[in-house]
Amino acid sequence: MSGTCHIVGGGISGLFCAKFIKESRNGLKTVVYEASDKPGGRVFSYDDKDLNCRLDNATHVIIGANKYLRPFVQAGEWHKKCFFWDVKQDTLSDKIRPFIPHIIKSACNTPPEDTAPAIVKQMLKMTFPWTPGMRKIYFSQNDLSQRLINPLCGYADELRLNSRLMKIESQFGRAAALVFGNTTIDIGADDTVILALGSRAYYPLMGGPVFDYSGIINIFFRTSQPLSLPRGNALIAAVNGKADWFFVCGNILAVTISAANSEISDLEQLARDVWKELDILRGVSSAFVPPFKVFHHKTATIRQDSANNAKRPDNAGTKYPNVFIAGDWTMKDYPCCMETSALSARRAVKTALKANNP
Ligand SMILES: Cc1cc2nc3c(=O)[nH]c(=O)nc-3n(C[C@H](O)[C@H](O)[C@H](O)COP(=O)(O)OP(=O)(O)OC[C@H]3O[C@@H](n4cnc5c(N)ncnc54)[C@H](O)[C@@H]3O)c2cc1C
Repeated sequence: MSGTCHIVGGGISGLFCAKFIKESRNGLKTVVYEASDKPGGRVFSYDDKDLNCRLDNATHVIIGANKYLRPFVQAGEWHKKCFFWDVKQDTLSDKIRPFIPHIIKSACNTPPEDTAPAIVKQMLKMTFPWTPGMRKIYFSQNDLSQRLINPLCGYADELRLNSRLMKIESQFGRAAALVFGNTTIDIGADDTVILALGSRAYYPLMGGPVFDYSGIINIFFRTSQPLSLPRGNALIAAVNGKADWFFVCGNILAVTISAANSEISDLEQLARDVWKELDILRGVSSAFVPPFKVFHHKTATIRQDSANNAKRPDNAGTKYPNVFIAGDWTMKDYPCCMETSALSARRAVKTALKANNP
């Protein structure tokens, strides 16, 4: 093939599109257009001036069953055990079954009782049964850009940052040009377009239903030395408290709270309360709370209830035969996560290549 695949959106989905096209060796050139000044979308690392260290925008978890994400984790980096701490009862357990609702909440970023049954089923299928090879978990080490995004960028023939798609012009029922501010890119007969945008960016361009969103809170404490959690584990899931997960990464203690939709106005107080929980977990009484940073990602993912799931597309096609879609939200019945993003990219690339070369 001699054309170009114009991939709009430089998050995990768009970058995986570039990877799959490169690996298909079909000769298509790939250009990734990203609106912001850095690739990665919801997945990136940066130098935090306040804590004076490198941080991820959010701690991201990869599990052994993630076929497409797994290769980015080295053999020695996996954690084989995960303990669940019941904050109210102050008990620790490594049994998974009683804590499946907690896993649903974390994986689907929606209260388990509200999560669409089809998504729960698919999430469990993607996660269980945990054969020994799959029963492992990795969490990002403030290196998301280095580990995932930079290597994925290497698959794109060209990456154009600060390129926000403003409009798609059409002619004879096909997309004819992509308008980026002052620059217009004509779409040739051999070209194809993949829109790998978040749902909030997609609909103003292409129209369609509007989703509800679900938030995630991340807290990063910078400690003077690495903390030790019970049983020497670097990660612990917490139930019946404020925090959902604790992760130790060097001098950073990271906390994740999923489905964080309630109007939490005082994030600093929340961080202090979480630190108190951590004191109980560790059986210590801290003299002070170390420096911390809190992020409330209010639109982290679409809310994965049945009403929103019903609005998701069930294929990669659009109203234009030469435009396709990828993105975690585009996969009906799938949890919104990086693995689903990769799966959506695979589907978009397959559909686009088939349409280009029927
Ligand atoms: C706080 C948080 C925690 C998470 N934790 C996990 C986890 O532990 N494990 C996991 O697997 N997943 C997790 N996720 C979900 C995961 O981050 C997403 O599923 C994934 O990053 C989605 O990638 P995407 O490429 O589909 O979308 P995005 O990352 O949103 O990428 C879309 C890209 O399109 C760009 N764009 C938007 N509009 C335009 C335009 N008009 N022109 C050009 N470019 C445009 C955006 O700037 C962005 O870079 C988490 C998400 C958040 C927010």
